[in-house]
Amino acid sequence: MQHLAPPIRHLVLVLGDQLDLNASALQDFDPLRDVVWMAEVMEESTHVPSSKQRTAVFLSAMRHFAQALRERGWTVHYTELDDTDNSGSLAGELTRAIAQWQPDALCMTAPGDWRVLQALQATAKAHGKPLQLRDDLSFFTTVRDFAAHAKGRKQLRMEYWYREQRQRFGVLMDGGKPVGGQWNFDADNRESFGKQGPQNLPAPQRFAPDETTQKVLALVSRVLPKAPGHLADFAWPVTRVQALQSLDDFITHRLPLFGQFEDAMWTGEPWLYHSQLSVSMNLKLLSAHEVVQAAEQAWARGHAPLAAVEGFVRQILGWREYVRGMYWTQMPGYVERNALDAQEALPEFFWTGETDMACLRDALQQTLRYGYAHHIQRLMVLGLYGLLRGVHPQHMHTWFLSVYVDAVEWVELPNTLGMSQFGDGGLMASKPYVATGKYIQRMSNHCQGCKFDPAQSTGPKACPYTTLYWDFLMRHEAMLKTNPRMAMQLKNLGRLSVEQREAIGQAATLHRQS
Ligand SMILES: Cc1cc2nc3c(=O)[nH]c(=O)nc-3n(C[C@H](O)[C@H](O)[C@H](O)COP(=O)(O)OP(=O)(O)OC[C@H]3O[C@@H](n4cnc5c(N)ncnc54)[C@H](O)[C@@H]3O)c2cc1C
Ligand code: SF4
Repeated sequence: MQHLAPPIRHLVLVLGDQLDLNASALQDFDPLRDVVWMAEVMEESTHVPSSKQRTAVFLSAMRHFAQALRERGWTVHYTELDDTDNSGSLAGELTRAIAQWQPDALCMTAPGDWRVLQALQATAKAHGKPLQLRDDLSFFTTVRDFAAHAKGRKQLRMEYWYREQRQRFGVLMDGGKPVGGQWNFDADNRESFGKQGPQNLPAPQRFAPDETTQKVLALVSRVLPKAPGHLADFAWPVTRVQALQSLDDFITHRLPLFGQFEDAMWTGEPWLYHSQLSVSMNLKLLSAHEVVQAAEQAWARGHAPLAAVEGFVRQILGWREYVRGMYWTQMPGYVERNALDAQEALPEFFWTGETDMACLRDALQQTLRYGYAHHIQRLMVLGLYGLLRGVHPQHMHTWFLSVYVDAVEWVELPNTLGMSQFGDGGLMASKPYVATGKYIQRMSNHCQGCKFDPAQSTGPKACPYTTLYWDFLMRHEAMLKTNPRMAMQLKNLGRLSVEQREAIGQAATLHRQS
């Protein structure tokens, strides 16, 4: 262990979602002249009501990472959440560290959140310290790449961005052409499980909490007792080694059926064939490159079919890089957008999971228990309900940012406000993702155990999704008419009689009040 004395050369800032030994900020680290700064602060758990699982995963992964740095002999200035002199904010903790170490400069990998960047830049400025920002190399692309792609385009669509990146990085390419002759294998993917349900599901990949994690779990229970969710089932990967095991487990056991059942849901089965890798990637325990490479190699050696691998690669090289570019090119105004003028409050049951709607109950209860739901649960159960009900997109944003272990604003906000709530008026999605309860019936077994009927829009057994779907179309009919992709849905709306419309409107109001 080096014993450094101030003044030092660099105070190297490492945030909770930058836990990568190869991070750009650490590449020229000199243990004789530099110190790493890491801070657990209450502000990060309370600016939105962060769930217990989410706070725990960040703190545990941070503590393991700090330990790995110390084992290299590096000096780590680390504040724990319950240190008596912890000021509670990143700005406050950075101020204290600057006073202690008197660095010539601060340096860091560019943070993921706009809010955090503002706070750190303001603190550096207030103390007259230069803050050097370096590109985040765990992504394939930079925000500058996205801005260049977006420049001059009237419309942004993920598909064109994705194809460009496939070509640029030579992923699943055969010379200049996509392998298999197609860019997209959606037609082969996205099946439901059918009546028999999922068969021989792989065992869930879970990591028993070690001593460090146990301490964090006790701390979170003690200092954040009212935070949403539960900790009893905490078993997320919190180290690089565990994250690599998690990747290997996915490639071996789930990837081959990932595409086929990408959109399917089943009551009581949270994991299915999903990778559960978002948390490791977002904390930077894994890089996007190594995850995509592992999937591509599985195809190359004949372990997984092309449709599954392409479907998976599209989520990472396509969507994940795309939403990041969208976030950084649209902030800070993006978070304020509310194109549909949705004003409803978030129903209280989102925080408890107590509702009669079987699909929502399943997604909510698993979210509160594990801090996880897969994409279709987030988009077509949870997000869809908020959209149809007319919940203010900022309330949906706060909720989604609070409850998931993988929730970091750069990825959560465009997905919630843009893709799921159409709050950006169509930047992310070419049309609102709206459907009746019949979509959920087709993709899951939830409706079998529900007191509602997805085919009914009015009456005591009316499915709230179906009622609210028609109500949504009626409320936004004028605006939706300008969107050719909504033509079929509006044509069906046109078949409803005046009486039916009235009855649906009343049923929707009643549901919102109940
Ligand atoms: C309303 C809403 C909120 C979301 N909030 C988050 C969030 O806070 N953090 C987050 O990482 N993802 C978010 N997503 C995207 C996606 O739902 C999750 O990445 C995925 O469910 C994580 O589970 P998994 O790792 O098992 O994913 P898999 O289904 O195995 O997918 C593989 C990987 O692809 C990436 N991916 C898939 N879809 C997307 C997407 N739309 N945007 C970005 N990356 C994607 C993820 O890194 C994921 O790990 C959100 C989606 C919606 C609709
Ligand atoms: S009937 Fe409606 S509320 Fe019930 S599970 Fe099906 S879609 Fe969900």
